[in-house]
Amino acid sequence: MNVDRSTIWPYKDGEPGEFIYQRYGHPTGVEAERRLGELDGGHALLFSSGSGATIALVLTLLSSGDTIALAEGAYFGTGVIFNELERWGLRVVEFDQTGPPPGDVDLIWLEAPSNPFLTMPDLEAAAAHPALVVVDATAATPIHLRPLEHGADFVLHSATKYLGGHDDVLLGAVVCKRAEDAERLEEFRTRSGIVAAPDPCALLLRGLETLDLRIRRQTESADELARRLRDHPAVATVRYPGFGGLLSFDVAGADEARHVETSLRLIVNATSLGGVHSLLEARARWEGARVPPGLLRLSVGLEPVEELWADLAQALEIPGDSRGRE
Ligand code: PLP
Repeated sequence: MNVDRSTIWPYKDGEPGEFIYQRYGHPTGVEAERRLGELDGGHALLFSSGSGATIALVLTLLSSGDTIALAEGAYFGTGVIFNELERWGLRVVEFDQTGPPPGDVDLIWLEAPSNPFLTMPDLEAAAAHPALVVVDATAATPIHLRPLEHGADFVLHSATKYLGGHDDVLLGAVVCKRAEDAERLEEFRTRSGIVAAPDPCALLLRGLETLDLRIRRQTESADELARRLRDHPAVATVRYPGFGGLLSFDVAGADEARHVETSLRLIVNATSLGGVHSLLEARARWEGARVPPGLLRLSVGLEPVEELWADLAQALEIPGDSRGRE
């Protein structure tokens, strides 16, 4: 792909053309936004990361004194950003997204499915609420869920994950239902400089070409692995919403989780999710007591499912775990 990395485009006859200066927009970004907008059925804008997209959206929509209702158990970093903004007068309340959101709030922030608890939001209840609704659909992707069709006002993606798909690009996106919201957000993006550069946008375009194939295969494999994990004696709880490539399960505790992490041969012990290689990690190292100490998050990649199961099964041979020795 030919990537135009210019930061400037010459004026013609003294007049600026479609592209002026890279912070305002560039051809690869516009093309990637067009494709993502089609997938989600709205107006897409790209940002330097999912976290950058989150902060840009909140700063554009809300003012000091406003309240966000945040889905309990949503991506840890989202809550951390919102707590940071409390210093500027933002209020945050957490709620169980499987039920209706609390009454007096200005913005409802859902995650479909939540990472790493894999709960699904009650989109109908949120859409019936007068507040604006954002759905972080990073883990669902537009292949499984198009939140704008269910009454959401905005979709957020960490495009670093499934949309990019290869663990080699950091990128975020917001897809807006209304063109006027997209214009406001774009204005904020231009002024703040939380922009996506041309090369990451080109990698996103590459990723989108295989998105459908990848997600279907990852869903098939994750479904099978979730089924087998549920029957495994060393595994207490399996969380899988029935679609997508992300699941989490619990072993007895922190030591057992560490044993699994360090015994893997094929699945990579690293953070993140959504790439072609399977990744697993114990989330308590980042999230502390918010998650069970034995919670392992597994992002299922494209490896043959029997090879993935063989790797998990040997890593789950946990010495001294009575539940593992029947
Ligand atoms: N939303 C979800 C559900 C995530 O899992 C992540 C990252 O882990 C983010 C947002 C933040 O995205 P990024 O890492 O691209 O800033």
